[in-house]
Amino acid sequence: MPMTAPLQPVFDGHNDLLLRLWMQEKGDPVVEFLHGEMSGHLDMARIRQGGFAGGLFAVFVPPAQHMKQSKATYREEDHDPLAITEAQIALLQQIADRSNGLAQICRTAGEIEHCIDRGVLAMVLHIEGAEALDEECSQLDGWIAAGLRSIGPLWNLQNRFGVGVTGGFPGSPDSGEGLTSVGINLLRLCNRKKLLIDLSHMNEKSFWQVAETSDAPLVATHSNVHAICPQPRNLTADQLEAIAQSDGFVGVNFGNAFLRADGKRDSDTPLTQMVRHLDALLEKLGEDRVGLGSDFDGISVPDELGDVAGLPKLTAAMAQAGYSSELIDKICRRNWLRVLKKTWGA
Ligand code: ZN
Repeated sequence: MPMTAPLQPVFDGHNDLLLRLWMQEKGDPVVEFLHGEMSGHLDMARIRQGGFAGGLFAVFVPPAQHMKQSKATYREEDHDPLAITEAQIALLQQIADRSNGLAQICRTAGEIEHCIDRGVLAMVLHIEGAEALDEECSQLDGWIAAGLRSIGPLWNLQNRFGVGVTGGFPGSPDSGEGLTSVGINLLRLCNRKKLLIDLSHMNEKSFWQVAETSDAPLVATHSNVHAICPQPRNLTADQLEAIAQSDGFVGVNFGNAFLRADGKRDSDTPLTQMVRHLDALLEKLGEDRVGLGSDFDGISVPDELGDVAGLPKLTAAMAQAGYSSELIDKICRRNWLRVLKKTWGA
């Protein structure tokens, strides 16, 4: 790219930074994120270099089994989803508090826009997999007070709210049972509280339960097109049709395994493959309902992109494919703001 090309501000639908910071056992992960160099996809220096203006920051409770594999000292009996959730929420707050005004937790689309205009990182609190929430959802108001604006009740496993999407490649999103009755109650509560409901890890049945129950636009924050890459996590033609009908939104996932036709995690994946998914989504959903949902720090991304600093390469690939600067602007930011405004009402 020419040195003079202005950075395209990007608002992004999903990252797992908080999980990575929480998993770090040594040092001060917040200081390293803000002022140092980190090994994953995201740190403040590279965020600013890539034009990453903000996004949904996920809180995620890894299953005890995963924890035992990554931390030898982890004891299953100590597994406390509520404590893990609150620790990750606290990390987001610490980033804001210790950033010298360079990062802020946002609760409205107006706040996000204001942050982007001033070059302040706009962070939205999202929960992926509501393992820590009890049947009465009694923790929800406290989390909303801390900034929560979006929730995916299910991840890939079963919890009290239902069954998430499971199964290997290639496969359909149909993994049997969907949301439980408390899961349906949670959807209604999210509608009342104007929380975004994320469809990205819903299986076939739960997807359609959300489509029937929710009065909000249908949003998949970080999913791709099943017809191109038949991962169970990707969206079928019927699902995309329902999203379009609801005036919803899909954020493209940067994960190689969700992009490639062979479903492999191979990072030798050209950015044109991401453009293929964008093309298909634009065809199905139109120009106003497509954006980005990187999944940074949660998956392996194409080498050509590398990490968050590589975002200008993605916008260059869009321009190369003939996307107008207005369309690139919509995909990178404006469509996200539009659907958030519609969902949140502000
Ligand atoms: Zn996810």
